[in-house]
Amino acid sequence: MVTVRFAPSPTGNLHIGGARTALFNYLFAKNQKGKLILRIEDTDKERSKKEYEENIFASMKWLGLEWDEVYRQSERMEIYKEYAKKMETSGHTYRCYCTKEELDQKRKIYEKLKKPYKYDGTCRKLPAEDLSKKENEGRPYVVRFKMPLTGQTILNDLVRGKITFENTELDDIIISRTDGIPTYNFCVVVDDALMQVTHIIRGEDHISNTPRQIQLYTAMGFKLPEFAHIPLILASDKSRLSKRAGAAAVTEYKEEGYLPIAIVNFLALLGCSYSATEEIFPLSEIINRFALKNVNKSPAIFDFTKLDYLNGYYIRQKTEAEIAVLVRPFLLNAGITPDESLLLKVVKLEKERLKKLTDITDAKYFFTEVTEYDTAGMEKHFKDPLKIELFKKFRGEIAGIDFKTVELEAFTRSFAEKNGKKLGELVHPVRLALTGKLISPGLFEVMEVLGKDVCLKRLGKIV
Ligand code: GLU
Repeated sequence: MVTVRFAPSPTGNLHIGGARTALFNYLFAKNQKGKLILRIEDTDKERSKKEYEENIFASMKWLGLEWDEVYRQSERMEIYKEYAKKMETSGHTYRCYCTKEELDQKRKIYEKLKKPYKYDGTCRKLPAEDLSKKENEGRPYVVRFKMPLTGQTILNDLVRGKITFENTELDDIIISRTDGIPTYNFCVVVDDALMQVTHIIRGEDHISNTPRQIQLYTAMGFKLPEFAHIPLILASDKSRLSKRAGAAAVTEYKEEGYLPIAIVNFLALLGCSYSATEEIFPLSEIINRFALKNVNKSPAIFDFTKLDYLNGYYIRQKTEAEIAVLVRPFLLNAGITPDESLLLKVVKLEKERLKKLTDITDAKYFFTEVTEYDTAGMEKHFKDPLKIELFKKFRGEIAGIDFKTVELEAFTRSFAEKNGKKLGELVHPVRLALTGKLISPGLFEVMEVLGKDVCLKRLGKIV
């Protein structure tokens, strides 16, 4: 059975890049009718936090990425230790007594020579009597893996093709630290093998670990899985994705008013194609079409405009009643408790313009008094006495009509005509008076929703 895993370290919230890796694993598992394992890699006790683990669970659930099994590496220490012992017995590892100071010294020499640092195998070459002397002295040690000293390691990556590594470039990696805690590369291999992971789909930043891990598989006699390294995500200026340029936590996107379905569709497109012409797919269709052979080698670009476009699209797929339910918490958050029927009317007017659910707060003038007015607008429409005079005349006459969109428009048009003005010369100042803004949905619709009393009060207040 196809088995994949998503293996986050709970050292931070689940960010958008991690979510993309989780999604690709999920899509592949579903496409192949296989299973997805969620493995919390929490061996780093200092940096791993329960709250981050909870954030990872919550974010995955919110995105709809259900997993089949969950494991925590911190609960599997005995297993790793057992395998580390086996490796020692089979002669694949050695104890390294080099101190931090000695290693720092060596590292400095490499730096001076401008060569990439690699442990020189001092302890691997120590004669047995030196080793037992150190052991008898009770010196602290790490356990290192004996990398092959010659030959090559070949990675046949499902995305990147064949990559060849010279074994001389691979150092004798540490598999357990002085405190006996096994390291990432070792735990990952033991877990992936014991959990019978068939495909390792992870970020390209892990590629350099892969030849080392392949050697560990071989040494432990495990069958090699397939590897697929998915491309990095870059910001739109091709720089590394920073928090500001998109690399925020999934939960931050939720708080900003993105829908999970939009995020999923957007992330699915980051580094993979599904069609030559289309980009909007329901999840079931993404699952059907997902194939590792369609994952790109080149970096994916994080395009906020596309994300907003998709989010707006998915908002509009919902009914007005559903949108009202979705936007309500964002209004409450902004201190507005909306009346139910008014909210429905506002949603009807605003839904075409919503990119994010938080955008609803731009329409707060429907629910609260207008206290601030666009300054440039005030300058333009309420400075000239002639304009003010026209506005006052309009305000006086409109009081007599029925506040229905059609009547309001007909009245305003004929008023403009009678006074030799263009429609815009009335619409802009009136909008400013009613909303405080220069942009809003159609003015006459807005007026109908606000109602006659509110409109007359606001028209009467501005000048
Ligand atoms: N725990 C690793 C990380 O968060 C991922 C390990 C892997 O996918 O092999 O980067």
